[in-house]
Amino acid sequence: MFSEVAPKRITLSEWSRQFRKVPDEVIKKFNYYQNSDWGRYLSPPATFFVYGARELKELKFDNSFSSLRLWGFVFNESERLFRAKQTGRKVIATMGDLGIIPVIVMAFPEAIPFYPECFWWVPFYNKSNVLLTRASELGIPEATCFSKAILAAFSKRAYFPVPDLIIAATGASCDDYSCLMQLLEDIGYNPLWVEIPLRRQGSEERVAGYLIEEYQKIWQKMVEITGRNLQKEELKKSIRKANYLRSLVKELKETVSQAKIAPLPALEMMVIEFGNLYGYGDFAEWIKIVEGILQTVKERVAKGIGVLREDAIPIAWVTPSADPILLNLIEDFGCRVLTTEYLINQALVPISENLDPFLALAQAFLNASLIGTTKERIRRIKEEVEKGRIKGVLITNVLGASHCALETKLMEEELQAVPVLAIDVPSPGGITEQLKTRLEAFIETIK
Ligand code: SF4
Repeated sequence: MFSEVAPKRITLSEWSRQFRKVPDEVIKKFNYYQNSDWGRYLSPPATFFVYGARELKELKFDNSFSSLRLWGFVFNESERLFRAKQTGRKVIATMGDLGIIPVIVMAFPEAIPFYPECFWWVPFYNKSNVLLTRASELGIPEATCFSKAILAAFSKRAYFPVPDLIIAATGASCDDYSCLMQLLEDIGYNPLWVEIPLRRQGSEERVAGYLIEEYQKIWQKMVEITGRNLQKEELKKSIRKANYLRSLVKELKETVSQAKIAPLPALEMMVIEFGNLYGYGDFAEWIKIVEGILQTVKERVAKGIGVLREDAIPIAWVTPSADPILLNLIEDFGCRVLTTEYLINQALVPISENLDPFLALAQAFLNASLIGTTKERIRRIKEEVEKGRIKGVLITNVLGASHCALETKLMEEELQAVPVLAIDVPSPGGITEQLKTRLEAFIETIK
């Protein structure tokens, strides 16, 4: 579908016009939880603008049918989680570990994991400070990163259903986020704490052993909640599913990055990378969506066409942009995001299928970059710089984030071979002309 239109980033209204070409039978074909009665999700992005996502009017989206499917599905997540709860599924909030705990949860049929932290985009998409203000009312200091919106969302009980279980990772994780999770108890929630041990060279075996015990504790809790005493074979199946998605995304990232002309915009790519965490609450459907995107990308590459100019300047992006519009902006200014380090590499690492599944999960977690040193975290970016593929690095600091802000300085020191710009992402709707000028100046330096 839409194979006749040239690849392009299009506006909300252009999407609405293009959407009229989609026949009803096609709309009926795409459902979440495989339910054709109430599970449809294919709709133009303008639908979500009407629901309150005001920023969509300023964004540009990829114009492929597979991207239409992606956006309909991603924006439908809140509804999907409420439906999950209404239909007797167990909704499990997994917080702070970024990548492994959902694999355990997904082994239990009818259990739906989700990452409340991914709702930190809500204030930006909605161009609204409602959640950030509520967070302040709950006693969170002003200078705290935007993930404070999550605590407010828990308190308002309107953005996702009350979870049947909250699994919260603490220890060697972000301390800002740990504090927020602790405050959940003050507003009436009772998380199951999972301790992430500090990884040190030489202590891998002991640390893996500790993680295995923590993961087994989650498994037991899931048995208790669901009443299903599953065999480890079910966990292995869940690992195979997660690995399949990880391999698809890896292939997609490589194909996009090696293409002469960028075949997909940075915004859609960021949304896809985050999907590895938990498949936006329907892992099976998300896999099909990513398969569709990969096919679109391969077709575009084969035809030598894409969404940006061939001479777009290749840069790396470090730390996710809390405000999605920045990804659009940097492309409008003539850049192309060739490689990324979004803090979620845990969810890209392949998990061994030949080991005991709990050990395999522990090793996958320890092999990723999030809990290691800053040097390890940006090793891949440095390699790309050394190969001459990356001409500059943009770091999006999260305003008030002590963890991220601290790392930014260290990364700047490591990446001196190319121009590096670190910017604070302002509050919703706060992108000023001054910030745009800084971005333009950075691009001029690279040129
Ligand atoms: S400080 Fe950084 S890592 Fe921690 S929650 Fe905020 S954005 Fe995430």
